[in-house]
Amino acid sequence: MNDMSPVKVEPVNLPSDQDASGRTLGKEEIELVAAAIESGTLTSTKGTFVKQLEERFATMLGSKYAFACASGTAAIHCAVAAINPEPGEEIVTTAITDMGALTPILYQGAIPVFADVDPDTYNVTAASIEAVLSDRTRAIMVTHLFGNPAEMGKIMELARARGIPVIEDCAQSFLATVDGRQTGTIGAIGCFSLQQGKHITTGEGGLVVTDDDHLARQMKLFINKAWGYGDPKPDHYFLALNYRMNELQGAVALAQLDKLAPCVSHRRDTAASLTQALQDLAGIGTPVIAPDATHSYWKYCLNVDPDVFAGGPVAMGTGLRNWNIASAPRYIQKPAFECQVLRDQRTFGNSRFPFTLARPEAVDYDRSRFPGTYRALDQVLVLPWNEKYTSAHVDYLATSIREQHAAVMEK
Ligand SMILES: *Cc1c(COP(=O)(O)O)cnc(C)c1O
Repeated sequence: MNDMSPVKVEPVNLPSDQDASGRTLGKEEIELVAAAIESGTLTSTKGTFVKQLEERFATMLGSKYAFACASGTAAIHCAVAAINPEPGEEIVTTAITDMGALTPILYQGAIPVFADVDPDTYNVTAASIEAVLSDRTRAIMVTHLFGNPAEMGKIMELARARGIPVIEDCAQSFLATVDGRQTGTIGAIGCFSLQQGKHITTGEGGLVVTDDDHLARQMKLFINKAWGYGDPKPDHYFLALNYRMNELQGAVALAQLDKLAPCVSHRRDTAASLTQALQDLAGIGTPVIAPDATHSYWKYCLNVDPDVFAGGPVAMGTGLRNWNIASAPRYIQKPAFECQVLRDQRTFGNSRFPFTLARPEAVDYDRSRFPGTYRALDQVLVLPWNEKYTSAHVDYLATSIREQHAAVMEK
């Protein structure tokens, strides 16, 4: 115990969500996939697995409707298409997110307008959203980043007062709650991802939920080329794609769904242990969770204050590499609006549509307008996290962080 220097400690391979070591895929999935294959029906338009998945997910969340689709990106696209913005209308969102949460806005001809984030929670706030609302705002898209819910109480109050629908991006926040309510059921629409690295997975896949009859019908149609399955005189009613999930994915998802609650609960337990173990480190913050919220720990983030801990999250991340820990300083390397698709407006041919319709302020990405966003990226260190962590893994992480902290602070 007295010599814990990096060179002497036997490196541990943490379980990874990119392979079996950190996933819950097993015989339950294999049995259901086999049943799907034996049925000979692999399309969800005729099969039973995706239907069951949709019913069970809706029940789990207490939502009136759930629909499965091809990816989290497709889920976001369904939500935006259901809101049906006019070209040039605006959807307020965050610049610290997956690009799959933003490109669907552009495909629907709308403009993503970025609200700043709270540098301690990495989430948008009611105040930061309010600061960028305009008479063209058609929806607000709230991302519960890393599984830590945004302040939905205040955000819903603001949105209701202005009559603006809220889309919740819950790709990272399965079973996280605010005031006892599941994320995804607080706004008008909730969007989820089943991509390889999310809480539960089918490799690729997505889900949307809503209580609203009209939005539900639009989303179901959007997944199905807007073909009115079951209608007396079906037609292709509007512009839409084939975003269906297939029965093989549906079968896997159905088995994964049973594992979701234990997965989240285990992630919470191990996260709590790590938080406990890192309480007294100068310049190292543990997740900041609102009193009315529960975090679902898609990832566990450290807030590394570069003013106290020299080199900030990059120095910590580099140090952790000696321990075989692949953390991600800065999460995404830059705010989404610095990516070429947004910065250079690379869209349809050389048209720059829909940016050609944007108010200048809506596409003003000047750094001074996003102090919280830049600060968040300068502070955040994303630790890999999954449901296969044991207390030994948490101890190893805590030890490595404390050792690296001591090494830097001594200098
Ligand atoms: C993963 C993710 C998406 C996109 O989901 P895909 O299934 O990868 O298309 C969207 N938003 C957030 C916040 C995500 O983490």
